[in-house]
Amino acid sequence: MIPTTITAFCQRQNLEITPIRKVILDHLWQNHTPIKAYDLIEVLRLKAIGSPKPATVYRSIDFLERQGLVHKVHALNAYIPCHHPGQHTACQLLICDNCNDAKEFCDDDLASLIPLKLAKIGFQPRASVLEVFGTCQQCTEAKTS
Ligand SMILES: [Zn+2]
Ligand SMILES: [Zn+2]
Repeated sequence: MIPTTITAFCQRQNLEITPIRKVILDHLWQNHTPIKAYDLIEVLRLKAIGSPKPATVYRSIDFLERQGLVHKVHALNAYIPCHHPGQHTACQLLICDNCNDAKEFCDDDLASLIPLKLAKIGFQPRASVLEVFGTCQQCTEAKTS
């Protein structure tokens, strides 16, 4: 289920959520782990939303990513839904090695550190991706209890 905060965001932004986009968002929200484009294509096929060509599905994912509704987990080449679209500029991702959970960690301080440090060596960053792998709180607690 797509949370009402997300549907409200789409309405406010006047974003057209086509059937394909809706199924993609729905599926991402149902799962806690990052989903690959390949799996999304399969889900769309099963839901019989036509049989969209991979290029169409990639375009839909692209759209959702550009609108801030979806984040790409680059290291896994997979996607997670954004929990607060339009409310953050920086987004670091924390990925659990154990349960594959991927969480957003939106720390502006952490993000602003990168251009600050790079300015010293004269590099102008256009974009950066920070993905941290480790053990999530739940898995850590489960291990120690
Ligand atoms: Zn986000
Ligand atoms: Zn975990």
